Amino acid sequence: MKILVINCGSSSLKFQLIDSDTEKCLAKGLCERIGIEGSMITYAPEGGEKKKTETPMPDHTEAIRLVLEALADPETGVVKSLDEIGAVGHRVVHGGEKFAESVLIDDEVLKAVEECNDLAPLHNPANLIGINACRRLMPDTPMVAVFDTAFHQTMPQEAYLYGPPYEYYKNYKIRRYGFHGTSHSYVSKRAAEVLGKRYEDLKVIVCHLGNGASISAVKNGRCVDTSMGLTPLEGLIMGTRSGDIDPAIIEFIAHKEGKDIDGIMEMLNKKSGVLGLSENLSSDFRDLEDSYNKGEERGIRTIQTFCYRVAKYIGSYVAAMNGVDVICFTAGVGENAPLVRNTVCGYLGYLGVTLDQEANHKRGEDIVISTPDSKTTVMVIPTNEELAIARETVRLV
Ligand code: AMP
Repeated sequence: MKILVINCGSSSLKFQLIDSDTEKCLAKGLCERIGIEGSMITYAPEGGEKKKTETPMPDHTEAIRLVLEALADPETGVVKSLDEIGAVGHRVVHGGEKFAESVLIDDEVLKAVEECNDLAPLHNPANLIGINACRRLMPDTPMVAVFDTAFHQTMPQEAYLYGPPYEYYKNYKIRRYGFHGTSHSYVSKRAAEVLGKRYEDLKVIVCHLGNGASISAVKNGRCVDTSMGLTPLEGLIMGTRSGDIDPAIIEFIAHKEGKDIDGIMEMLNKKSGVLGLSENLSSDFRDLEDSYNKGEERGIRTIQTFCYRVAKYIGSYVAAMNGVDVICFTAGVGENAPLVRNTVCGYLGYLGVTLDQEANHKRGEDIVISTPDSKTTVMVIPTNEELAIARETVRLV
């Protein structure tokens, strides 16, 4: 079956068409600046040339219409007719406590997703717009919602509750939800598969280090803790997000600089993380590594602080699971930055971790990067959220 995977943002839309029998991507692309002047669609059939076309996209329905047109184009398309698309899988960011699994979309599900909007006001409304636009254009095609939060719903109460009064949980559902769930689930399962071990027998820590970064503890196939919280701002130091801070810093800076809450949140989400720590050098680890390798203080300080936070979280998840068998690195930084993996693993001597430096410099494959005598196995597993969404979609239709 051919599955269209859609990841819809407020002004962008990423898509992939995946053949679920071969699990190969047949075509992928991106619509940008939807509803803004200068919108464009990028389309790339597998093995073919990438084509960028500037064309008006006043709304998401038009963007999806263009995607379908590109997929069925007589010359560069990959399907003869849209009937070949058996189902659509939509990434949805927040499923609150309502969704611990992916679901087949109907009117009731859409209403329940809408009720989660205040938990993810930037993301969920955009996801819903994408779903509604798709339903309009493909009314007879089954659609599935795959939630970023669902995999983490198995966390025990002690892991998801915060310290403020319990009434905030009761009244507003303020608690840890966690994100990147599709990636944490895919990578932890894949690690077991590659090692030829039973998923249900393993304690796995997944470090998803991309522009957004989070880490999770997966014990016997169930997530028991994760670093992102009510929102993706908590936890690790990220590209531009601060991660954990003392909440009193908010009041302190508000007084010092006369900032309001929106100004502070903008600073914590957009101007912090490795970008802020490096004094605006870059949020991209390629630039930070260059700076580190040149011996510049700001590059060194930023990478060391980033890696220390990751190592500290790994330690806390070893405690949460009473041990760890496998540590996996994934996402843009986790898959491509041997320096980061080496620095993080430098803290893990107490777990008997030793890295195979040659393997640590390989790229683009599922690979064990620890030595055969390392007491804990360390791996790089390239994440594939689209494939995971396609698998979930097939499972449900
Ligand atoms: P993601 O959010 O998973 O797409 O990751 C994006 C981030 O991965 C970029 O902002 C870079 O910081 C990082 N990245 C991508 N390629 C490389 C590379 N070759 N070396 C180091 N970092 C990389």
